[in-house]
Amino acid sequence: MAEPMLDVDGLDASQQLLRDNIRRYLKENFTPRIQQAEADKRFPHELIGGLADFGYLGGYLPEADGGLGLDYLTWAVMMEEAGYCWLSLRILLNGLNIVSGIINAYGTEDQKARFMRPLLRNERKTFVSISEPDVGSNVAEIKTRADKRGDRYVLSGSKLWITNGLFADFGIVVARTFSETCNGELSLFLVERDETPYEIRPVETMFARSTGTAAFSFDNAEVSAANLLGREGHGLKQILIGLNFGRLNVAMGAVGAAQSALDLSTEYALQRKQFGRPIGSFQLVQKHIVDMTMKTLAARALGYRAARSMQNGNSRTECSIAKLYATEAAFEVANLALQVHGGMGYATEYPIERIFRDTRGGMIPEGTTEIQTLIIGREILGISALT
Ligand SMILES: Cc1cc2nc3c(=O)[nH]c(=O)nc-3n(C[C@H](O)[C@H](O)[C@H](O)COP(=O)(O)OP(=O)(O)OC[C@H]3O[C@@H](n4cnc5c(N)ncnc54)[C@H](O)[C@@H]3O)c2cc1C
Repeated sequence: MAEPMLDVDGLDASQQLLRDNIRRYLKENFTPRIQQAEADKRFPHELIGGLADFGYLGGYLPEADGGLGLDYLTWAVMMEEAGYCWLSLRILLNGLNIVSGIINAYGTEDQKARFMRPLLRNERKTFVSISEPDVGSNVAEIKTRADKRGDRYVLSGSKLWITNGLFADFGIVVARTFSETCNGELSLFLVERDETPYEIRPVETMFARSTGTAAFSFDNAEVSAANLLGREGHGLKQILIGLNFGRLNVAMGAVGAAQSALDLSTEYALQRKQFGRPIGSFQLVQKHIVDMTMKTLAARALGYRAARSMQNGNSRTECSIAKLYATEAAFEVANLALQVHGGMGYATEYPIERIFRDTRGGMIPEGTTEIQTLIIGREILGISALT
């Protein structure tokens, strides 16, 4: 029997085929919608359902739970291709999959039926709400509170930077919980727009303009006790597991965006002529292309390494390394791509300026570059510089 074909990144033939099929599908179905969606600041959510067959909607979950049982390396390739097409797509898929993963791990059967299964069918839209005006990197300091009153919790506080918050109809809210059995530890709540009254304000951002970033205010807003996700007071651990998975997704999206910037630049360098020659024939432009290539390859290698570690069940440091390196590398690659494109790099009709803005965003959510550095440093040195 012939050996399965491996490419240099260690993907087998089925993973390579999947990558090619996804790239073609996203180019045909999503790419033509990008320009308008960015201008309208509204992502075409209805297109996401078409990605279910590839496994983008919870495909990494076991088949018994509604997934396809995909391994994490295959998943990483899929996130990479989402980023290659459009970082906003990767961003929304990240939220959808973090939420479905947490519900699958900690939710009741009723919560899986009401929240997770509809998400996997693209019938509902979701968000993850952790950050607050005064709380970013230090999640443990969250101020929003949830007070237990009978069969309900009462939420009060402000949340900020909620991706998809403008469009989503439910999501996970992290709140400090007070009840007979919980004295201020964090818990997760599934908060529904139709059931719990909360104020939603748009937040204009430099990047991912179609992803509906919002701020929320909860003013004694009631949520049913049936919507407590997992155990009271265990929210910090639960959300950090979700964020670790998110770091793999962010890293791989960044790799895809870097590859896209590199491909566009290579094409442009061959086609654009100055001084009677293609600009790609100038040594300084070649240096840019070579630097972009090396950064992209290194980021991909670290991303796939993190995916393999996740498959083996131990990936915290690897995901931080991949997230840190890939997001920084992608922005450097996008910056060089803009340089190679000259003035055209600034034109909004061309993808480079969007990729430049979008790759910059990767260094902030899911733990900033500095926070990833401290997580990795703590692991290497055994000393925490975080607090
Ligand atoms: C576009 C966008 C989308 C987002 N989406 C979501 C979302 O969907 N849900 C959500 O909950 N949040 C979201 N976030 C928020 C994001 O997670 C936070 O912005 C991030 O955690 C950083 O928090 P902060 O902005 O408050 O910065 P801060 O924590 O105030 O940090 C400011 C600076 O100080 C540095 N710093 C902080 N502490 C340390 C330390 N101990 N050592 C060294 N340096 C430190 C940081 O690295 C950073 O450079 C999003 C953010 C953006 C920009």
